[in-house]
Amino acid sequence: MKKKINNNPFTWNYSPAVETKEHIQINPQYNLFINGKFVKPNSNTFFDTYNPATEEKLAELSLANEKDVNAAVLAANNAYSKTWKKMPAKERAKYIFRIARVIQERARELAIIETMDGGKPIRESRDFDIPLAANHFFYYAGWADKLNYAFPNKTPQSLGVAAQIIPWNFPLLMAAWKIAPALATGNTVVLKPSENTSLTALKLAEIIRDCDLPAGVVNIITGPGSTGSFMVNHPNIHKIAFTGSTHIGKNIQHSIAGTNKKLTLELGGKAANIVFEDAPINQAVEGIINGIFFNQGHVCCAGSRLFVQENIAEEIINKLKARMETLIVGNPLDKNTDVGAINNKEQLSKIKSYLKMGKEDGITLYQTLGELPKKGYFCKPSLFINATQSSRVVQDEIFGPVLTIQTFRTIEEVIEKANNIPYGLSAGVWTDKGSKIFNLTKQLKAGVVWANTYNKFDPSSPFGGFKESGFGREGGLHGLMPYLKF
Ligand code: NAP
Ligand code: MG
Repeated sequence: MKKKINNNPFTWNYSPAVETKEHIQINPQYNLFINGKFVKPNSNTFFDTYNPATEEKLAELSLANEKDVNAAVLAANNAYSKTWKKMPAKERAKYIFRIARVIQERARELAIIETMDGGKPIRESRDFDIPLAANHFFYYAGWADKLNYAFPNKTPQSLGVAAQIIPWNFPLLMAAWKIAPALATGNTVVLKPSENTSLTALKLAEIIRDCDLPAGVVNIITGPGSTGSFMVNHPNIHKIAFTGSTHIGKNIQHSIAGTNKKLTLELGGKAANIVFEDAPINQAVEGIINGIFFNQGHVCCAGSRLFVQENIAEEIINKLKARMETLIVGNPLDKNTDVGAINNKEQLSKIKSYLKMGKEDGITLYQTLGELPKKGYFCKPSLFINATQSSRVVQDEIFGPVLTIQTFRTIEEVIEKANNIPYGLSAGVWTDKGSKIFNLTKQLKAGVVWANTYNKFDPSSPFGGFKESGFGREGGLHGLMPYLKF
C-alpha cells in the first residue's frame, strides 16, 4: 500500500494477492468425453488452448470430427432410451444434486482454471461463475420430480437428445445453464464448449464421471465451429440450445429449417443503461462500472450503451472517469484485479478496430491512464463520450470494456433511442421513482430490465432476449419448457 494508482489521490496500490495455482491439475492433453469415458478423437487431431493473460499454452484439446459427433450422438440416444428416460424422476434428481455438490467441493479449483483459461478476474470466477453454476444444478435438481406441478393439467415429456453449444465468456456457467435443465427434464446431452475455453467443461466431464452418471447421459466434445455444425445437422438430435453470436445463431436457424428439431437461441446484446436526474448518482456510477467492465465487457447483457439525462451528464461523466481510474487492470489471478484479460487475440483486435472506428466517427474517446501488462491480451477501460446513435460503436455489439455515452431530455426520447437497435436482451434503469421504472420496463424491448442495479442473476429467474438477441428462456420455470413437449 505505497503508491497511488494513476496519480489518483483517492487510491492506493495494493500488495499483490495472487491465487496459487500449484495445486491445480491441468492435463497436457484432453480426450473427448463420450459414453462415460474419455476417448481419443477419431480425427487424431489436437489443438492448443491458451491463457490469454500470459499467452502460455495450457493444454491440447481434441478436435471432434463428424465421426466423433456421430459417436457422441449415438451414446446420448442409447442412454436416453435405455436408461435416462426410464429412470424415476426422483432418481435423476439425485444425480443432478450430486453434480451440484461436487462443483461446490471443487469450486476453488474450477475458479482458478476458469480464470487461467478465459482471462476473467479470479474474484469473478470465484464469487460469480462457479457458485452460480452450482446453484443452477441445485435449482433444477429440485424441479426434476415436480414437472407435473410446474405444468399442471399437462403431461410434460422429454424430447430426446439435446445438442448444446456454448460461447467463451461464461464457460462453466453456460454449461450449467444448458445441462441442468436438460437432465432435470429427462433429456440426454451432447455439449460443445468454445474452442477457446473448454477446460472447465472437461473438468465438469470428470465430475460427471465421478458422480457415476449413467454412461452417455452427458457427452462433452471439443472442437471448433465445424464440430458445432456437425452437431446441429445431425439427424438424430431433437433439440438445439445455442448461446453465441447472432450471426451463427441465424446460420443454425437456416440449417434446421424444415426439420422437427426444437431450437433456443441466446444471442448478442447491446443493452441500454438509463440514468435519470433523480437517480442515486453514486450508486448509478457503481452500477454503470459493474455493467460494462465486469468480465471485461464479455457479457451479452453488458450495459454498453449509457443514456444520461442531460442535466446530470457532466457530473456522471466526471465521476465515471474518476472511478475508472481506480479500476485495477492486470493479472486475473490477483484477487485485487477488477478487469482481467480479453479472452482471445481475435477479440482484442475486434475491440481495437471498434475503438478506431469510433474515433474516425469523431466521437471523443477517454481511456484510463494506467499502463497495461506487457504480455497478454488486455484493453484499457474505454468511454466514448457524446456518441451518436448512428455510429457503429453504438449499434454493434463490441463485447469488450467499451462504454458509449449519449444524453437525453425526455422519457419518450430515451425509449426511442434505447429501442432503436437490432438487439433486445437486457437494459438498466436508474431512478428514484417506481412509476418511471414500471413505465420503462413495459416499453423497453428487452428480456431483462434491471432497476437501480445491474447484472444480477439467480437460477430461479428466466433470462433471454427479443429481436436479434434470440428466443427461448434459460433459468427458472421457463427454462424447463424448451426441453419438454406437452
Ligand atoms: P460464436 O462465435 O457464435 O460461438 C459460439 C459457439 O458456437 C462456440 O462454441 C463456437 O465454437 C460455436 N460455433 C461456431 N461456428 C459454428 C457453426 N457454424 N455451427 C455451430 N456452432 C458453431 O460466439 P462467441 O464469440 O463464442 O461468443 C460471443 C457471443 O456470444 C456474443 O455475441 C455474445 O453476445 C453471445 N452470448 C450470448 C449470451 C446470451 O445469453 N444471450 C450469453 C453469452 C454470450 P468455437 O468457439 O469453437 O468457434
Ligand atoms: Mg484459453
